[in-house]
Amino acid sequence: MNILICIEYKELKINNIIYNLIESAKKIKNDKNENNIYILIIGYKIKKNFIKSKLDNIVNIKKVIIFNNIIFKNIISENVVNLLLNLYKKYNYLIFPSNHFGKNILPRLASKIDVSPISDVINILNKNTFEKLIHSGNIKLTVKSYDPIKLLTIRFTNFSNINIIKNTKYKVKFKYINNNFDKFKKTKFINIKEIEKNNLNLNNSKIIIGGGRGLKSIKGFEILKILAKKLNAAIGATRSAVDAGYISNNFQIGQSGKIIAPDIYMAIGISGAIQHIAGIKDSKTIISINQDEEAPIFSISDYGIIGDLFILLPKLIKMIK
Ligand SMILES: Cc1cc2nc3c(=O)[nH]c(=O)nc-3n(C[C@H](O)[C@H](O)[C@H](O)COP(=O)(O)OP(=O)(O)OC[C@H]3O[C@@H](n4cnc5c(N)ncnc54)[C@H](O)[C@@H]3O)c2cc1C
Repeated sequence: MNILICIEYKELKINNIIYNLIESAKKIKNDKNENNIYILIIGYKIKKNFIKSKLDNIVNIKKVIIFNNIIFKNIISENVVNLLLNLYKKYNYLIFPSNHFGKNILPRLASKIDVSPISDVINILNKNTFEKLIHSGNIKLTVKSYDPIKLLTIRFTNFSNINIIKNTKYKVKFKYINNNFDKFKKTKFINIKEIEKNNLNLNNSKIIIGGGRGLKSIKGFEILKILAKKLNAAIGATRSAVDAGYISNNFQIGQSGKIIAPDIYMAIGISGAIQHIAGIKDSKTIISINQDEEAPIFSISDYGIIGDLFILLPKLIKMIK
């Protein structure tokens, strides 16, 4: 039972979601209760010591394969798939995170090797049976796969990252490769420009403050940013706020944005559409401010404040030392 977890090396690091993915892979076992977990890291100028500091001594990892190539300086899925087409036959499972990286690769790879991909997995019941979310996270589906190779994207927030066992006596094998493979010729990376940088990472922040159309303008989001700074929180937004141009779309949370699971999510001027809730429902505590007492966001909130955010936010900011 060989499992390959694929993750990208970006901005000189791998994301801590690797631990959640390892946790998910641990649940896939053969009849003898065994599995072999391999990790494939794809990127350019990968710092070996950094990777070692993250992954060495983790007893569940059989081997870490580091694929360092200038082709992956800026990742396009076509090249990743061409690489995976050379590797996939050795594995029974290929696991990707449910993020832009994984969602880009899975459909293309699945069509190339003719298997049914299983996306947004939230639980692994046994080696063939998976629970996944559909319809913006409103329906939980249980699926059984008979494909010999299973391709999964994992909703990493549904798997804990605290059960990783390290043992200094256990040395993980690291293999560095840079083989040639066919570079995809029909698509070429040209340029990437970040419009606006999020102050903190939406995946790793304990507190996230989401702003909606209720903030009414770019200026409205400036108030949110003051609050975020005081709380050391990251900022997020609804699609309507993004579409209205209040903030750039790398802040978008929801079905077509990022999926988050912070300790605290504050929804400010957000109605609570199902597409937004799909991205926030794993938050541990949800606090909402909305002037409409019937706003659907209150039905999933732990704490709700009915009132005008333009009156409440300045008061809140003043109260926080
Ligand atoms: C295919 C598809 C994918 C989508 N994907 C996403 C997604 O990923 N993420 C996402 O967020 N949406 C997504 N949407 C859009 C979604 O359906 C909603 O339109 C959107 O989430 C609404 O955003 P909002 O809550 O900011 O705006 P609104 O629904 O307009 O709500 C604004 C809220 O602010 C409140 N408000 C106004 N003024 C004040 C004030 N002064 N004080 C307090 N409260 C105030 C109002 O009462 C209202 O509840 C998607 C839609 C489709 C069709």
